[in-house]
Amino acid sequence: MSSDKPVAIVTGGGTGIGAACSKVLARDGFRVGINYIDIVEDSAKAVLAQIEDGFLLKADLTDADQIESMLAEIKEKAGRVDVLLNAAGISINKDINSMTLEDFDLQRAIVRGSWYLTKRILRLFMLRKNSGRIINISSVVGHSGNSGQIPYTMEKAALDAFTKSLCKELAGRNILVNSVAPGFIDTPMTQNLPEEVKKRILDSIPLGRLGDPEEIADVVSFLACRASYISGTVIHVNGGLYGG
Ligand code: NAD
Repeated sequence: MSSDKPVAIVTGGGTGIGAACSKVLARDGFRVGINYIDIVEDSAKAVLAQIEDGFLLKADLTDADQIESMLAEIKEKAGRVDVLLNAAGISINKDINSMTLEDFDLQRAIVRGSWYLTKRILRLFMLRKNSGRIINISSVVGHSGNSGQIPYTMEKAALDAFTKSLCKELAGRNILVNSVAPGFIDTPMTQNLPEEVKKRILDSIPLGRLGDPEEIADVVSFLACRASYISGTVIHVNGGLYGG
């Protein structure tokens, strides 16, 4: 059902940074479409239960047909989109000798899905008004590099290039496109790292701690709700780890 409320679609919105962003965007007045995949269904439902106004969107972004079905669902349930947050991601952690072509392709499939969703959702941005926000969650390691994550770092660097190019294509329609590049954030993605890796990471962060997902969500909310003259840029949120 359509309403006059602005609508934000959050991919990977059922866990970690995506979940925090879904909650903060809902708090800030958006109706939030929470995209998720099967394995995190319970978590996505729990996020939905905590927000004032939202709906669930089950779709695997590696599958173009599922993206198309999700778009039809968004059109039916919301009728418009004001903000797209591409937060879904996976990180495959192996050194170059152990990484397989299948690993590489899986990693690449997520950024391909984010690109395809963005391309296809644009028409919903145009229905009501000539403006909007697209925010991509990239990563510090797309800039600094990281041992054991070559395909992940390549895809995150690609996402920032996507941000910069899309900004130029959409500026004439007043759709602002930015990346938020987190450092190391306390989410399911980092919770499973081996203890010695966690210690090495902590030792390297000037602020001496991992970030909270809400600290990323606050920056996303700023871009979604208030920033009007920022586009094509990467905002680093990493406790001093890397300055861009
Ligand atoms: P997370 O694992 O909780 O979140 C990733 C989400 O993406 C999950 O909900 C997962 O189900 C979803 N997802 C994975 N494959 C998908 C697919 N094919 N289709 C749809 N959804 C899919 O971890 P997170 O840390 O919250 O990660 C969120 C984003 O932040 C990711 O893009 C990640 O790369 C990025 N990031 C995380 C950190 C960190 O330290 N946690 C640092 C930099 C960037």
